[in-house]
Amino acid sequence: MEKSFQEKLFSTVESEKDNLFSLIQKLVQIKSYSGEEKEIVEFIVAKMGEFGFDEAYHDAFGNAIGRIGNGPIKIMFDAHIDTVKVTETEHWAHPPFAGEIVDGKLYGRGAVDEKPAMAGFMITGKVLKQVYGDNFPFTLYVVGSALEEDADGYPLYHIIANEGIKPDYVVLGEPTDLKVYRGQRGRMELKITATGKSAHGAHNHKGINAIYKMMPIVAEIEKLDKKLKPKQPLGKGSITVSQIISKAPSTCSVSDFSQIHLDRRMTIGENKNSVVKELKAIIKKCKSDAKVSIPNVEGTSWKGTNFVQEAYFPTWVYDEKHPLVDAAMKTSKAAMGKAKSGVWSFSTNGVATAGHFGIPTIGFAPAKEELSHSSKEELVLNDLLKATKFYSLFPFELVNRIER
Ligand SMILES: [Zn+2]
Repeated sequence: MEKSFQEKLFSTVESEKDNLFSLIQKLVQIKSYSGEEKEIVEFIVAKMGEFGFDEAYHDAFGNAIGRIGNGPIKIMFDAHIDTVKVTETEHWAHPPFAGEIVDGKLYGRGAVDEKPAMAGFMITGKVLKQVYGDNFPFTLYVVGSALEEDADGYPLYHIIANEGIKPDYVVLGEPTDLKVYRGQRGRMELKITATGKSAHGAHNHKGINAIYKMMPIVAEIEKLDKKLKPKQPLGKGSITVSQIISKAPSTCSVSDFSQIHLDRRMTIGENKNSVVKELKAIIKKCKSDAKVSIPNVEGTSWKGTNFVQEAYFPTWVYDEKHPLVDAAMKTSKAAMGKAKSGVWSFSTNGVATAGHFGIPTIGFAPAKEELSHSSKEELVLNDLLKATKFYSLFPFELVNRIER
């Protein structure tokens, strides 16, 4: 990348600093719980229009979508703009929706997860239009996705499957503390159901107790969790019994139904087939006829659009040598003088783009993942400025890297 062009981009970002900081403050002030994103989506779409985006609208699901340019390489910047709720037990030193700024830090719900990236992406669009104008060598889609906290992956799945936008590369705005993140563990939910035969408690020998049938399976699952092996860079998967329910005709009867709910985190090499196979082997070992199933996640967006998806969110990770990761590392060096890669512990919209569709995906954003969903959410404003320099340069670096 030509030094003078890079400097022009960065100095234009610097000149937008006050706009950037007041934009992130405003985004935090607009409460946007999952499923209640109407106000923030309409605000974002209107702002994108003001900033000169070539197109800005909300789609059938309720995601905000903006477009810059019309070039051959399609890049998607995605930041979910919903947040988890503030609960009564949380203690906030700064009110969660005031957007207070103290000593260069902004506080509030969404100040980490993940409104900063949205502000950075929007200002990037404004800067690109100012500095480059038209005839971009790429098409940049800026997405403010809705309902991610309830349905990770689904908002982008919707855009790709139903809205006719298929990006070649994706950058996620989940918090990475200014590192280039290149993967995450996958996750899935499962149920195991055992049935028995009910009988009066006074004649229990006539029944088959479904709870007793489930007990050895639960014990084997506890052992399995300890046996799972780590695979770097994602570490080890896990399996957790999150719920157990049972039924009986009365509390004086033999239980004829029991069911456990499982949370499974998957590392490299673990997927839906291997996880189900592992559980079937346990059931066989226990000489049981219990059944394994994968539940659905269902919901409704703020636009009233219903969705159903299987509770399976595939693992994904890219090598440091992958052109997308490599371009991001170069961009980071140019924007901040350093570059480091990493992976997320939690799940992101990458389960759809990378996990489901195989579209190369990375993440880059300010703030620390471990502060997400807590009353300690805080953003160092200068880190957002650095991230915005990264966002503005990245599409050009990527195009250069691919065309090399
Ligand atoms: Zn998030």
